[in-house]
Amino acid sequence: MANSPLPDPTPVLDLIEAFRRSKTLFAAVALGIFDRLHDGPADLAALFDAFFAAGEPVELGALERLLDACTALGLLSKDERGYANSALASAYLRRGSPHTLAGYILYSNRVLYALWANLEDAVREGTSRWRQTFDLEGDLFRHLDRTAEAQREFLAGMNGFGLLSSPRVVAAFDLGRFHRLVDLGGGTGHLAVAACERYRELRAVVWDLPSVVEIAKEYISRSSAAPRIAVEPGDFFHDPLPNADLYALARVLHDWSEAKIRALLKKIAERLPEGGGLLVAEHLLDERKTGPPSALLQSLNMLVCTEGKERTLAEYTALLRDAGFSRVDAVKTGAPLDAILAVKEA
Ligand code: SAM
Repeated sequence: MANSPLPDPTPVLDLIEAFRRSKTLFAAVALGIFDRLHDGPADLAALFDAFFAAGEPVELGALERLLDACTALGLLSKDERGYANSALASAYLRRGSPHTLAGYILYSNRVLYALWANLEDAVREGTSRWRQTFDLEGDLFRHLDRTAEAQREFLAGMNGFGLLSSPRVVAAFDLGRFHRLVDLGGGTGHLAVAACERYRELRAVVWDLPSVVEIAKEYISRSSAAPRIAVEPGDFFHDPLPNADLYALARVLHDWSEAKIRALLKKIAERLPEGGGLLVAEHLLDERKTGPPSALLQSLNMLVCTEGKERTLAEYTALLRDAGFSRVDAVKTGAPLDAILAVKEA
């Protein structure tokens, strides 16, 4: 039998290298390269001096390699004036940009990168890696509020990604018939903001753990819809839920075990009036679980850092129906998060 030709190794070579691209981005953001270039281009010597003057010295040749790698990745440009931020870097990699993804990048660098280093053991044991990696017990959210800085970084990360999705999630269905939205585990409030900016009669409450709500107020105050958005502390597993005809759970169901999800969904369905709804924002897996790659990788991410996972629409539908929702619709938004609307009908 003739030997079949070898496949092109490029996809494998690309995957071998992929973490180097991520880590180059993480290091450049952590070192503040894109913030230092916000005022205009700077050459290597000027950047080197700026690090030195800030009391954060770097090694000249190593800095040049990092800058050149960022240039090759399209994050910087380089000409006779020196290095300059690309449009991508200006929008998403500067800490001060309203669209910044720096929070999620810094969280990825400091936390996720380390947890993922133990992925094989997570697969062997089927559990998160907090104890193995950081010697910490308990769930993700207990670790986040250990320091105010860690919590702010995580929430900034959630906000950056949330801004990419929430306007599309709230536009996925006509939510105009609802009057009072309560966003459970609402984080910085980007979903409530997007909903109230789109639906002018809607009022919203962002409901989250006490340490989060103070931070949420700062984010919400930047929106023209802020007067219609309240912020309240609460624990969705232990406290009675505030009144609403529409609840939201964005990136909450994927954090928890199936038993906890079932209990939470039942609690929500019981609290809703007839005709009330639950808006869910999550990455939806294809029914055969062969894609999309970002959702499958997010499911592995949930393995290393939570007790949860990503699901297919059929899996969410079964959970929602069991909890008491009679109608379930979904929209693939094209944004990082998809949208499900479950309604409690008569
Ligand atoms: N929904 C936000 C978003 O999409 O950006 C935040 C998602 S984040 C993955 C999960 C949120 O659930 C966090 O803001 C966390 O503080 C909140 N949370 C965790 N446990 C909670 C609980 N028991 N009660 C209320 N909120 C909780």
